[in-house]
Amino acid sequence: MAGRYLLRACTTLRFTNQHVAARPLQRTMGTVNGIPTDDEQATGLERRALEALKKGKDPYSMMKPKQYAGTQAEPHIVPSIGNKRMVGCLCEEDNTSIVWFWLHEGTAQRCPSCGSHYKLIHHELPH
Ligand SMILES: [Zn+2]
Repeated sequence: MAGRYLLRACTTLRFTNQHVAARPLQRTMGTVNGIPTDDEQATGLERRALEALKKGKDPYSMMKPKQYAGTQAEPHIVPSIGNKRMVGCLCEEDNTSIVWFWLHEGTAQRCPSCGSHYKLIHHELPH
């Protein structure tokens, strides 16, 4: 109620008396251009992630992993911070069991059951 009277008084003052400096009636988000975007207001870890995504990198594994054929020429890429990693292969789409095996750094290895190729790639943590 009081806000409505204040609003009416401000608009009346603004249009009748040109000597009085009226304050703007609407509250803005602090910029002339409107609501700031994620790029403008991101800080810290979020800003580093956005800058890395612009360069085409995905240091925090936020994007969907790329699909590989699993052949010798295009093996499944398995990122790891160590020199080996446990890999589970769901050999066929309808299988109810997973074949687990250790994947070591170096040349591509094959799944012992279906023969799909997997290659371990060293991955550095971003922090
Ligand atoms: Zn398999």
